Amino acid sequence: MLRQGIARISSRQVRNLTPSVNRIAFNAAKHTPTKAPGIIFQAVRAIGSTASAPKQLLPKQLVMPSRAFATQVSENPFLNWQLFPDFQNLLTQCKPATAIPIFEKFLDNAEQQFKQLETNFKPTWEGSIGLVQKLEDDISRAYGILAHFNGVKNSDDIRQTLEALQPKIVKLGLQLNQSLPKYNALLELRETASSWNALDATQKRIVEQTLRDMKHAGVGFAPGSPEKIRFNEIRERLSKLSLTFGNNVLDATKAYKEVVDKSHLSGLSDKFLETLSKNAKRLGIEHEGAYCITLDFPIYGPFMQNCSNRALREKVYLSNIVKASTGKVNNEPIINEILALRQEESELLGYKTYADLSLSVKMAQSVPAAEELLDRLFDASVNPAKAELSKLTDYAAEIGHPTPLAAWDISYISEQYRKHLFKYDEETIAQYFALPKVLDGLFTVASEVLGVDVEEIDAAEQRAMGITTWHKDVKVFKVTEGEEVRAYFYGDFYSRPEEKRSGAWMDTVTTRSKDKNGSVRIPVAYLICNQPAPASADEPSLMKFRDVETLFHEFGHCLQHMLTTVDYPQASGINGVEWDFVEVASQFMENFCNEPEWLNKHTGHYKTGEPMEQGMVDALIKNREFLSGLATLRQIHFSKTDLFLHAYFNPPKSSSDKSVFDVEAELAKKTVLYPRVPEDRFLCSFSHIFGGGYAAGYYSYKWSETYSADAYAAFEEAMSKDGQKGVREEGKLYRDTVLALGGGTPPQDVWKMFRGRPEVNIDALLRHSGLLSTSK
Ligand SMILES: [Zn+2]
Repeated sequence: MLRQGIARISSRQVRNLTPSVNRIAFNAAKHTPTKAPGIIFQAVRAIGSTASAPKQLLPKQLVMPSRAFATQVSENPFLNWQLFPDFQNLLTQCKPATAIPIFEKFLDNAEQQFKQLETNFKPTWEGSIGLVQKLEDDISRAYGILAHFNGVKNSDDIRQTLEALQPKIVKLGLQLNQSLPKYNALLELRETASSWNALDATQKRIVEQTLRDMKHAGVGFAPGSPEKIRFNEIRERLSKLSLTFGNNVLDATKAYKEVVDKSHLSGLSDKFLETLSKNAKRLGIEHEGAYCITLDFPIYGPFMQNCSNRALREKVYLSNIVKASTGKVNNEPIINEILALRQEESELLGYKTYADLSLSVKMAQSVPAAEELLDRLFDASVNPAKAELSKLTDYAAEIGHPTPLAAWDISYISEQYRKHLFKYDEETIAQYFALPKVLDGLFTVASEVLGVDVEEIDAAEQRAMGITTWHKDVKVFKVTEGEEVRAYFYGDFYSRPEEKRSGAWMDTVTTRSKDKNGSVRIPVAYLICNQPAPASADEPSLMKFRDVETLFHEFGHCLQHMLTTVDYPQASGINGVEWDFVEVASQFMENFCNEPEWLNKHTGHYKTGEPMEQGMVDALIKNREFLSGLATLRQIHFSKTDLFLHAYFNPPKSSSDKSVFDVEAELAKKTVLYPRVPEDRFLCSFSHIFGGGYAAGYYSYKWSETYSADAYAAFEEAMSKDGQKGVREEGKLYRDTVLALGGGTPPQDVWKMFRGRPEVNIDALLRHSGLLSTSK
């Protein structure tokens, strides 16, 4: 989702259709597109995910085995492949005139097929989950390609095609989601001891999760009952409201323009001034020397960080925090209605609050558990944060900036202080991170730590294997362990703003599964980034350090998808992994970017090959600790506000009742250290929880970060105890647990198997953030 202002960086998208699938299927990672992908996005939201499920995007998780081994050849080109879709050819099939009839026929068939299957559900594995697996896999594979093109080859054709298919997709989604025969068969399966005991633990978990998700989708209400009617009304209304919420934020963002001349813009780089000037032209402001500040993050963020004109910063800041809180785009009534409806929905489903419903499908399980972690992190970071604020204040005084600092000074002074401490600018650092070198380093980690080899498949070999891609810059990789091929992935690294959405994500082409004969279909993944393309033919792509972190992050998701050993597609790889645990594998990989040893070994100037000077290495390592107390508090504030609103708050019935803003202000007394502006209406643009899938789930960022840091600490311990040998052993254990078990085993058990203890130790995260020594 978006990473404007509120998001640290992490985020994900989920694509799935059926409720058995209402679990995380796809995690578009920490840098996800900032724009909702239009129609598809809406389509799947309308399908209605469970309360806790993140934004449902597309039918993607529905995966099943044996397709790769099926002998019949489909006439549908979107289905007629095993591991490698013929992207080159498929791109030519996306015109509405071609694609719409193909998919209409396909979706109609799918609907008919499902109706047929519905008469055959039986209380056995093969008679329930197994029965629809192939159908789900077909939908996933075929529709997944359109979704993929929508992200990386966006065009009017693709959009038109998807728009036309939306109603059918929604309908099919509902049909699969709310099938009573399927639900009843699963219930009976669970209740019949002989058949239930014949299932293995993973199968049992899949059945339980499917039942739970179907229940959350409303299948348990009797057809035509008042509860069912009301539940569906609520669902429909909620999906409209969250769209309106998002649209209001967009409209309010678009509506604001601050046009100034250059003399007001001290402190900004020439490059950014040029961006502001272009921004003015883009918005039709033609007069000479006009610079335009807007509230979209690529403009607002750098402006607040760098403009030394304090009065102008104040003006823009105050406009930003009241965004979407007045007039036609006022989100306050929408927030209240959303909260009230979520509460009603949860009660209908038998939960006390919406937070209980949301947490019931997450690793944290309960509100107190999530709160406890947040409280511990708060205790550890509040004093360091206070110290950081006083350092910032001192620094401000030193450079002649007025103090005490106001809310509109924090970004600015922080950035000036960062430049003062670290000295290196991003462009200089990027010269040491050429893509080929970084990939080499990344694959060395995979091989030395995890014992798998990654190798690029060159053009000749691709031709021999019948592999085509959607763009000439896309690379294809093979992942092997010894002689055995474990997986493949496509790497689409460069930014192409004209056709590719911004952000970075991982997605699945195929999911590992095993058919009745024991044949395994191996997983194939997409790894999508948005770093700069090479500036010229003889120069490599030079990566900003955050691009490097992003690449490691997405590769971490890919690893979990590719190294799974689960045979059932519903729980293999990233499928079925809890929302607050799925970012563990990805964030874990990021740790390697900050390793001095890694930085020394795997970086070098792209022209001379010279290693980074020590000062730069130190700066990159230290950057992770920079103002981390304040950053942690900020995340805690969002998390606590989110939980509070969904666990303890009743929307006001009269003007004397507390408003959502009162509640937020109350919480801010503890978690926001600088003076909060009374007119702050930030909640009106908190899209994560009112327009997206993070409701009563924002804490997941910190939750999974705590686990990923503690996982990395296991490697640090192994290294200090047994050196490289220890790391390899730990790597094997990590691979056999966190990466291999996917969604087939409860995350608590996975964690215990890996770490040897049930609890997570928050010290690792604190230590990595430089918060440990200064905390109590
Ligand atoms: Zn991620």
